[in-house]
Amino acid sequence: MVEQILSVENLHVSFQSQSGEVNAVRGVNFSLNKGETLAIVGESGSGKSVTAKSIMRLLPKHNTYIPQGKILYNKQDLLSLPIRQVQKIRGSEISMVFQDPMTSLNPTMKIGKQIIEGLKRHQGLSNQVARKKSIELLKMVGIPNADERLESFPHQFSGGMRQRVVIAMALACNPKILIADEPTTALDVTIQAQILSLMKDLQEKTGTAIIIITHDLGVVANMADRVAVMYAGEIVEMGTVDEIFYKPQHPYTLGLLQSMPKLHSSRHTPLIPINGSPPDLSKLQQGCPFAPRCPYTMKVCHYFTPEKNQITNDHSVSCWLQDQRTPLENKPIAIGGGI
Ligand code: SF4
Repeated sequence: MVEQILSVENLHVSFQSQSGEVNAVRGVNFSLNKGETLAIVGESGSGKSVTAKSIMRLLPKHNTYIPQGKILYNKQDLLSLPIRQVQKIRGSEISMVFQDPMTSLNPTMKIGKQIIEGLKRHQGLSNQVARKKSIELLKMVGIPNADERLESFPHQFSGGMRQRVVIAMALACNPKILIADEPTTALDVTIQAQILSLMKDLQEKTGTAIIIITHDLGVVANMADRVAVMYAGEIVEMGTVDEIFYKPQHPYTLGLLQSMPKLHSSRHTPLIPINGSPPDLSKLQQGCPFAPRCPYTMKVCHYFTPEKNQITNDHSVSCWLQDQRTPLENKPIAIGGGI
């Protein structure tokens, strides 16, 4: 039976910027099941990282506020818990891996000390036991000569090895949820593949649920069970990985797929970029935010925001093309069954 461990409900996040209030996340809803991998995809500025950081309460306090929403974990709303309690959950029950491993590592402290300190703090282990466990963790993520490498500083590791160390630290306390924000973007392709397969192996062993934030649909295809596609701070389409790849219903999802290089297609298959750029979230117009870039825009799209339409149990889309209230003659093209 599917067991839900996290639920994000009607999350709104805004920033104060020089150009005014930026509504970076606008009514996001999703849930995460035990042991599954949920990918959140979208271009830069779509709100995917802000959503992830909200879960961990890692957004800057001075210019961010969350006017509405709940993030339910263990029947508690992480947004209204005292920060001390969230700090206890952070690292022990919910961990995060960032694009740049140096974000999580202290450059002036030996790797071993950093892992051992975390284990002592979160699990109350003695120095000796924590050291033993640190060696096991480094071995588990494929670091050779693990006991010697405890004495190395972060700069003495390659980028890929540093990311392995960060994953080891993130998994040290057997978290229930691992949030990985573009974990392989800074790495070259071979190392990327190694890190992704490492994460998949570890997930099989530990049963940790993963939220992976990425703009790379290749990563999604390799890792995810379900996918949330974000645009302009909203989830515009959500479904299983097969539904999203083989039956995309939102023109933006189709655009992302068409702009992705395919492994088995002929060298001459052209990639089709999505025209235009994402909207300025401090100056959103009425209607569908994708309308200025959408090849299927209808009149209704300019005036009314599309509502969520449920297609299957897992698959939903917010687009007037899929809304039964849109008269057929207004639809430029039928996009059911894959656009
Ligand atoms: Fe395109 Fe209209 Fe659908 Fe928006 S609602 S994605 S503009 S067809």
